[in-house]
Formats: sequence, structure tokens, C-alpha cells
Amino acid sequence: MNKPTSIPGQFDAVVVGAGFSGLYMLYRLRQLGLSVKGFDSAGDVGGTWYWNRYPGARCDIATPDYTYSFDPELEKEWTWSEKYATQPEILDYLRFVADRYGLRPDIEFSTTVTSARWDEQEKRWTITTGRGEEIRCRYYIMATGCLSMPKSPDIEGVGRFGGQVYFTSRWPHEGVDFTGQRVAVIGTGSSGIQVIPLIARQASQLTVFQRTPNFSIPAHNGPAPADRLKQLDEDRDGYRHAARWSRIGVPNEPTDVLGVTASEAVRRERFEAAWRQGELVGIVSVFADQLLNPASNDIVAEMIREKVRSIVKDSETAEALCPKDHYFGTKRPCLDTGYFDTYNLPHVRLVDLRKQPIVSITEDGIETADESFGFDAIVYATGFDAMTGALVAADVTGRDGLSLKEKWAAGPSTYLGLMTAGFPNFFMLTGPGSPSVLSNMAVSIEQHVDWVAGCLKDMREEGFETIEPTELAESGWNQHVQDCAAITLMPTANSWYMGANVPGKPRVFLPYIGGVDGYRQACDDVVGQGYLGFRLTGPDGARCRDGVIRSMQPDVAMVLELIATLGLPPMETLSAADARALMAATAETRPPGPEVGEVTDGVIPVPAGELPYRLYRPAAPPEGPRPLVVYFHGGGWVLGNLDSDDPLCRDLCARSGSVVVSVNYRHAPEARFPAAALDAFAAVQWVDANAIELGGIPGQLAVAGWSAGANIAAVACQLARDAGGPHISGQVLICPVVDSDMTRLSYDENGDGYILTTPLMRWFWDHYADPADRGDPRAAPLRGDLRGLPATCIVAADFDPLRDEGVAYARALEGAGVPVRLARARGHTHTSVTMVGVVISGAPVRAEIGQALSDFFPAPNHKSS
Ligand SMILES: Cc1cc2nc3c(=O)[nH]c(=O)nc-3n(C[C@H](O)[C@H](O)[C@H](O)COP(=O)(O)OP(=O)(O)OC[C@H]3O[C@@H](n4cnc5c(N)ncnc54)[C@H](O)[C@@H]3O)c2cc1C
Repeated sequence: MNKPTSIPGQFDAVVVGAGFSGLYMLYRLRQLGLSVKGFDSAGDVGGTWYWNRYPGARCDIATPDYTYSFDPELEKEWTWSEKYATQPEILDYLRFVADRYGLRPDIEFSTTVTSARWDEQEKRWTITTGRGEEIRCRYYIMATGCLSMPKSPDIEGVGRFGGQVYFTSRWPHEGVDFTGQRVAVIGTGSSGIQVIPLIARQASQLTVFQRTPNFSIPAHNGPAPADRLKQLDEDRDGYRHAARWSRIGVPNEPTDVLGVTASEAVRRERFEAAWRQGELVGIVSVFADQLLNPASNDIVAEMIREKVRSIVKDSETAEALCPKDHYFGTKRPCLDTGYFDTYNLPHVRLVDLRKQPIVSITEDGIETADESFGFDAIVYATGFDAMTGALVAADVTGRDGLSLKEKWAAGPSTYLGLMTAGFPNFFMLTGPGSPSVLSNMAVSIEQHVDWVAGCLKDMREEGFETIEPTELAESGWNQHVQDCAAITLMPTANSWYMGANVPGKPRVFLPYIGGVDGYRQACDDVVGQGYLGFRLTGPDGARCRDGVIRSMQPDVAMVLELIATLGLPPMETLSAADARALMAATAETRPPGPEVGEVTDGVIPVPAGELPYRLYRPAAPPEGPRPLVVYFHGGGWVLGNLDSDDPLCRDLCARSGSVVVSVNYRHAPEARFPAAALDAFAAVQWVDANAIELGGIPGQLAVAGWSAGANIAAVACQLARDAGGPHISGQVLICPVVDSDMTRLSYDENGDGYILTTPLMRWFWDHYADPADRGDPRAAPLRGDLRGLPATCIVAADFDPLRDEGVAYARALEGAGVPVRLARARGHTHTSVTMVGVVISGAPVRAEIGQALSDFFPAPNHKSS
């Protein structure tokens, strides 16, 4: 690949699509000296902006941001006339770019790529076009757009209408004059919201058919925002850098204001500022938690609904225009110019399809369940088969005859949204699994193109001919994409982000919501780690460094980043008293955990004195006694008290429906080994003896604990077995300490950087037990006799130094005939599973713990309803 391929019909690269991404890709490939051929079904460059010519079509990211930034000279030569440019102006811009860099000669217009087939022998793609041409290339790049495949309307009788039919996504080039016409618009997404006010200006009668009302804020269009232009003037590079490392590709100071805790005045002020600003970046970040916390989201949503009600005079229409079936931001929010005002015009009517669904399109109009409407024209603004539509429409066949359509039958699978296993040298620009439609696409497109160009350059320099992701890397990325979505409200909506607008399309969250910044870092890290997760081959051999680039839960990573910014001293450098004070201080700022029925404090008389306890009784029926769970907090036998694990105890109580008795035991260094373990056993004995008084069911008793608390819970079970009672139905050990040698692999892998570190664990052991005592099963229960122990649930977290101890205990218990449930806390640290209300991704693990506790006891199941 040193010289560009110059055989007729053979190219180094084929790029499909001549929109924002295809044009820049062509430019970069040419810069690399490659021979390139571009195709587009369209008659000219522009992509989105070639096709979507409906009146009112504009960008909704402000023009200083929705623009190429790769060439400072280009930036100087183009001036946008408005904050949100119209389609003709954006199309002019893309034409200008194509001409400025002489890109047109490489592109064949009005030509659709119908298929692409990988030839494993030749290590080349064969591309076939609708004109019957065949082209061979080494690299096949689909710059085919996320919103380029119009979705056909799924309405009965679509072909029947005898009047004029228009699609916003395929608008006639000569324009349409609706003067004096009776017009129907079906669909109220971004395009519908843009086109409706303009059609209303011409039509004699406009009827809008709405299935789902959408959130929209006024664009306040006008000159480009002065503040952004000023920043660009003063420091263009700095501004562009900030955009590239921002959350959505637009420079913006992230907020830490939480909707749920902010005062009413602050909430109002922040919302009104965003409303006045008229930019998506502002309205999606009124509160830091608005896409995570339903209560916070409701605050923003209700303020928008209030605005709609204040604009639209007819209260029934206003109510129908107020979105109530999805959280704000879980469907793409819109920017509008006079959209809601349009419904105050006498000749404009809204038909709520939730109340009167369309039965059929007829020859002269539309029939709903209640009415027949006559129209001269119908405009469909029914959206796109987003993100995957254009990719699977061309028949792409990779190695071993596998087609992309087949591979993605259950949803798209990609590595970084750039490539997919089984399809060597096939790149997607802004593919599923990348930030794409959740970002300013100008920034995301440039990042993808730069990545691909960099990759091809690296391959050339290192003598590789093919690149392809591994299955492991790809499934790891898919998991990460879904993990990122799962902690947000996004999957709750029937949105096109979820594929829900296309009948039969698999429901998976398509884009990557971890941020433009986080995504860019992941892509850079992949390259920095020698193309981690990619297999590269060439005449001199292959190279593959397999692995998963992001396996930590996203909210766990955020917590670690936040803690790192606090600059706290390592705990093992503190005295026990200072470490306790630090832990107490951090506990003060966290959310309280779920409500339970009743919380009471008491003391347990034990041989050594009195142990404080806190009892949590579930709120939900049934009335009457419940199983009992004796819980021991974590803290390395040195730290912790009844408050430290309070949210977790509430959570366990609410989930399991059991009475949870959290016991504070004696701590080291004041009371060293075996004080804590003996206290634990004494507490279990006392709770068992007082089951009825505590509201428990006699004989239905389990123990649970986290970390060192799990250590003494495990020991208490061994002591109870040896003492012939009390009978314990089960034990839940969350990230337990079960051995003292600190030699397992998880210490090597996770002993640094995840809060519980190897030095801290050593500090705990040194405070608790003399080296001579550490082999005693009451310190290291893994070394004890495990036969006859109760059913066990062990939680082992991926990023915990204690992970392999937990796993070893599970295996050893199984070997001793004990029923064991090993819950892998995927992507979690030693502490994160316990962070109730902070680490949302811990909820499924805690649900499993709650289930395990319920399962310890006989039916009737005591889970709360
Ligand atoms: C109305 C509208 C407004 C938008 N506004 C914004 C905005 O303000 N900000 C923002 O960030 N994003 C916006 N977007 C998203 C927009 O799609 C991207 O910003 C950007 O234009 C995408 O560029 P692209 O080159 O990746 O894809 P596209 O512009 O979609 O171009 C893809 C091209 O590939 C061609 N193609 C597809 N398949 C084939 C094939 N098999 N053979 C040949 N050619 C093929 C298509 O004809 C098309 O021309 C908007 C989208 C729409 C529809």
C-alpha cells in the first residue's frame, strides 16, 4: 500500500456517502495519498442537507459549533449568517467545502451502493452499485448517515391518496407552494416541528396528526451567539479543543446542581436561563441529574409543559401538546420557531392520535376513528430508520458469507461504533455504539474520520493490510454501551434511539451516551494500547492485543474520578481516629437510602458489655413477623458504625422483606482479634433468642455482612455450626475478607486505584490481628472446616482486591457441599455495590442479594411487594 492503487476499477478505499462525513473522509484519505472513490445516491454533495429541503429545515446545533474545524483556513473563509442556519445555507457550505478541496471528481453521484462483499483470498472488498458497476477496494467506509434512511409510514392505505404526497426527508428540489390548500402533516418530531409553522403560513387549512407530543424549546434564532463568536475569535484552538473534550461536542461548563436538592429559586433560574438561551446544550444540562433521576427530570419536564400551556390558548390542544409519556431528553428534544404559537391560528388544528387513531389514508384524505378529513396534500414527517437503516440497506457481506443484516438481527454489535467483527477493513462513520446522534455531529464526525485516517496510516507504517475487532473487544464494548445507557432514563422511552419507531426493529439503545469526551478518550486509549481489541494482519504476520477497553461501570468510574479530585490522604497514613472521622464525614453527604417501615435503635447485652444495634422493619405488608437478618458493617474491623452502612441496610430490608438487625461490634485496634468475631457470634445468638420480641419468625435467621463485616458473618456461621446453634438459614457475604495471605491475583490486578488498596488492607490486618493469629479460621474463615455451613450468597466485584478470596470461598464451600450463589458484581469495586442511591449500576447486584436473602427462607416469600 505504499503507492495508491491505480488499476482501473480498483481503489485503496471506497467511501459511500457525500455528506459531512463522506466529504471529510475523502479529504483525509487523499491526504494519505490513497486512491479513493466516493458514491452517493444523491445528485450532489450534502447528505442530510441535500435531501431534507422542507421549509424550515435548519440545524439545531448553533452554527459556530456545527461546522468543520479541521482547517483553520476554511473556518476563516466561511461566515454563517445565523445562529441556526437554514438547509440551503448548510448545503451551500458543504458545496463550498467540496469545491475548495476539489472533492467532486472523486465522487459518483446518483449512484447507490447496493452490495459489498469481502474476499478473504484477495483481502479486498468488491463493491457493486445500482448501475451494475463493480469496484474493488482494500478499505470500505460507510459514511451513510445516521438519519438518512427514511422510515416508510406504517399507516393503512398510504398509497391510496389521490392528492399530493410529500416526505420531509425527500422534499422536491423546486419547492412546494401550499397556498390555499388543505394540508395534513403526519408526525411531530424535529422535522414536523420545523415544517409546521411554515406550512401554516401558506395553507388555507392545516391539520397536524400527532401520535407523540415532543418536548421543544424556542430556538431564538438570530445572529450567531456573540459569546461563542467572541471565544472563537480570541482562541479558536482552545474553543475547538473544549468542544472535542466536552460531553456533547459543544463547549459547556458542566453543572453539579442536582434538580432534587436545588432550591425552587435555583431551579427556576437555571431553567429560565436555558429557555432564553435556546440551545440544546443548555436545556439538557439544567441539572446534573436530570437524565438519571426521574424526580429531577420531572422538574424540567413540568417547567416546559407550563410554557406550552402558557403559549397555546386552547387548553385541550395545549394539554395534547404536553409530553407526559416519556422523560425529557429520552427522545430527541426539538428547537422550534413559533411551533406552539402556530396552534393559536384559526386554520390550524391538532388531531391527537392517542384519542382518535388513524384508521386509514383514503383517496381524498384521512379517516380517523372519529372523523373523515379531506386534504389536497399530505406531508409525512415520519422520521428515519435511524443509525442502522442505511448500513443494513446495502448488502454488506463479510468473512464466511456472514451478512451485516444477519449479524445484527438482534441489534447492532460494534467495536467503538467504528468496526464489527467478521468484516475486516470495513469502517462505519458515526456507527451505532458511538456518540453520533447524541452529540454535535460535526465534532463526532471529525473524530471518527481522524481515527480511521490515523488507523490506516498506522497500518501502512507497520506493514499491516487488514484490521478487524475481536469478539471479546466487541462484546465488551457493546456491554459498556448498554451499561452507560442503563444508568440513565434513556431506555425507558419508545424512541428512535431505541429503535422503537420501526416495527420489528430490535430494542437496544443505539448510540453511546458516555459522552463525546469519554468516547474520544476510549478511542485514544485503544490506539495507545497498540490497537487493543483489534487483530491486524499483514504479509509479515499478525498482531492482536486482545482485551476490553472499558469494563468498569460508568457510574463507578465517575465516583472514582470524583474521589480523585478531592485529594484525600490515603487512609492507611491516618490514625484510626482520623480515618473514622474521614469516613463519618463522607457518610454525611450521601443519599439516605430507601424508606423502610420502621427504624429503631437498641443494645445487645454480650459478655464483653453492650453492642448497639439498629433494626429496620419493612414497610410493605404483610403484617406480622418476618425473617431476621443480622448484618455486620464493613470497615476493616477498624472503621464503621451503625450509620456507615445505613443506606445499604435500608436497601436490604426493602428488597428482602426481612427485618434487618445491623450490629455494631467492637473495633480494632482498641479490641483486636477475635473480639469482632466473638461479638458477631454473640449478637447472632441474642437475635435468635429474642426473635419474637424483634418481630422475627423464630428459626428464620440469616446473617449478612460487607467486607470485614462479611468476614465476621462467615466466622459466626462456623461458630454457630460448631456450637450446635443457633440455626442459620443462609449467609450473604458481600466482598468478604476470608483469607489473610493477600496473595491472590486480584490483589495484583486491583490493589491500587480502587479505594480499597493493598496498603490499606495491610493496615486493616495490622490493626486487627497479630500475624500469628491470621491463620486462625476465626480470622481467615477460608481456612476453616466448611462442611455443614448454611446456604451462601457471595458477591465478588471485578475491581476488588478481595475478588478472588470471595471466589475461592465460593468454590471451597461448593466443594464442601454447601449450596452457593456467586453474584459477580460486573464492573464494580469493593465499595461501589454498597453505594445506594449513588451508584445506580449496583442496583441489579443488590436486587440479587435481596433475592438470595428471600430464597433462604421457606415460602410464603417475604419479599416486599
Ligand atoms: C433535518 C435534520 C437536521 C439535522 N440537524 C442536525 C444538527 O443541527 N446538528 C447535528 O449535529 N446533526 C444534525 N442532524 C444529523 C445529521 O444527519 C448530521 O449532522 C450530518 O449531516 C450527518 O452527515 P453524514 O455525512 O454522516 O450523513 P448524511 O448527511 O446522512 O449523508 C449520508 C449520505 O449517504 C448516502 N447514502 C446512504 N446509503 C447509500 C448507499 N447505499 N449508496 C450511496 N449513497 C448512500 C445518502 O444519500 C446521504 O447523502 C440533522 C439531521 C436531519 C435529518
